[in-house]
Amino acid sequence: MINRLKTPELFIPTCRAEMAARGWDELDILFISGDAYVDHPAFGVPLLARLLESAGYRVGIIAQPDWRDKQAFTGMGRPRLFAAVAAGAMDSMVNHYTAAKKRRNDDAYTPGNRAGARPNRAVIAYVAAIKGAFRGLPVIIGGIEASLRRLAHYDYWDDAVRRSILVDSKADLLLYGMAEFALLEVARRVAGGELPAQIHDLRGTAYLTSNPPANVIPLPSFDQVTADKKAFGEAFRLAETEQNPFSGRTLAQPHGHRCVVVNPPALPLTAAELDKLYALPFLRRPHSSYCEKIPAYEQIRFSITTHRGCFGGCAFCAIGMHQGKTIQSRSQQSVLAEVDTLATAPEFRGTISDLGGPSANMYGLSCNDAGAEEKCRRPSCLWPQRCSRLDCSDQAATKLLAQAQQRPGIKHLFVSSGVRFDLLPQQPAYFQRLIKHHVSGLLKVAPESFAPATLQMMRKAQPDLFSWFLKEFHQLNQGCGKRQGIVPYLMAAHPGTTLTQMIDVALFLVRNKLKVEQVQEFTPTPGTLSTCLYYTDRNPYTGKEIYVPRSREERQMQKALLLWHLPESAPLIRQALRICQRQKDGVELLGGR
Ligand code: SF4
Repeated sequence: MINRLKTPELFIPTCRAEMAARGWDELDILFISGDAYVDHPAFGVPLLARLLESAGYRVGIIAQPDWRDKQAFTGMGRPRLFAAVAAGAMDSMVNHYTAAKKRRNDDAYTPGNRAGARPNRAVIAYVAAIKGAFRGLPVIIGGIEASLRRLAHYDYWDDAVRRSILVDSKADLLLYGMAEFALLEVARRVAGGELPAQIHDLRGTAYLTSNPPANVIPLPSFDQVTADKKAFGEAFRLAETEQNPFSGRTLAQPHGHRCVVVNPPALPLTAAELDKLYALPFLRRPHSSYCEKIPAYEQIRFSITTHRGCFGGCAFCAIGMHQGKTIQSRSQQSVLAEVDTLATAPEFRGTISDLGGPSANMYGLSCNDAGAEEKCRRPSCLWPQRCSRLDCSDQAATKLLAQAQQRPGIKHLFVSSGVRFDLLPQQPAYFQRLIKHHVSGLLKVAPESFAPATLQMMRKAQPDLFSWFLKEFHQLNQGCGKRQGIVPYLMAAHPGTTLTQMIDVALFLVRNKLKVEQVQEFTPTPGTLSTCLYYTDRNPYTGKEIYVPRSREERQMQKALLLWHLPESAPLIRQALRICQRQKDGVELLGGR
């Protein structure tokens, strides 16, 4: 919660005193956010608020209000146009619970890393609270929670299919994806007298109606996807196939007597548009009333985002569904200007901790055939094999790193975002530069598995590419006299992974002397292909049934196999070897343990 005693006027107002300091007696738009207010472009609500502010709207932010207390929402009065609600940078259920459905006791987006500052299903709870506080006020929802729950979806925590969040929240309009320009347009039209619930023609939005337009792609209804897993898979496949912003069509999914209509995604931003966003007057720090550190801010305070989007299309990842497959890169000048701003910050000590994006080495990459890109239905440009139309040139990314490192005040420049190793065979100059100058000891890569069948299911590169990467990595390190390591990110219990496959993965790790520090246990988060595989036990594209490791016991054994080097893993590894009748592999896996 925000302590109102200190209220610097350059923050977006969070209370009446800050409104008064700007001479405002009323807001146009009120944001409600599940995250603490950090005035930095890496945080969605402040980014949108600064954009609306730059367009002349009077904007306020209520961060992490007590959803049980009506007064927590009324402090700045009723906004003139609408309220905009987001759960925060993460889905609130993912934020609150582990893969084992245990309650987490921390929250990196809250001062002091404290849990409990936001409700479960935050979008629904905040919309109810704000509608209770201001009767009849239009409410718009957005952010990752709303975006990925825009259609009927499987919810792991309820272990059931839930309705579109538009229906459950009773919001007037849903904005999905990054939403900057959709929100600006909504503000303009509402200021002109339209109601958000009547805006039906805007890209990147979803709405509820009794009269869906003609020429939509009809999806199986909520009732059908609840009753029939094949229908669920079909709805997912249809929705994923229409994600192309240039040619994707409008989707319609009946929910009872009404229909959720999802318009095509927003067009990717140009470099000039993205640059404008990053040039907004962010203070680049948490609201000054916070007394405790916010871990998510500490992590990014000396880092710079170079681009958004990802064309990898990994089955378990939501980035493609949220940010899109097209890489939207900032211009070099814009990134360098941010480097210079950072370099003059009083607390900056000369080290940029990260220059990257969802995958650092995708900066500046694109499809080299505009006509093909417009019609493309592939969910990934890299899977099942790299598309010949993908321009993988490392020129832009390499040049950017070189130039950024030469800016005054920069002693070290690291890349700590993940790097797509399957692009590196086409990016020798970037790879070399990365190893020589930009790894702070350990390089993060995400092979996720080494089992061919699992990798196929995950839409990831096959193990031979990782073996190539390992060899090159060691050679490049030797060449520049460095002894750096890699941190491989691996996932346990992904749909399609059997225990015996996981034993093979563990053997691959042992043979390559790879020790994994952290293993992600697969969590079926809303809106991904992997979640669809988990829920339906079937691949919606091939119709083939797949194996899903569900039991707690098997999930723990899979995790232990990936953490083969830890003494506490030994009993579970022995159990897995016994079940699969592969005790002979115990010698290699467990040594003398
Ligand atoms: S045509 Fe190829 S490179 Fe272009 S968007 Fe489609 S998959 Fe990607």
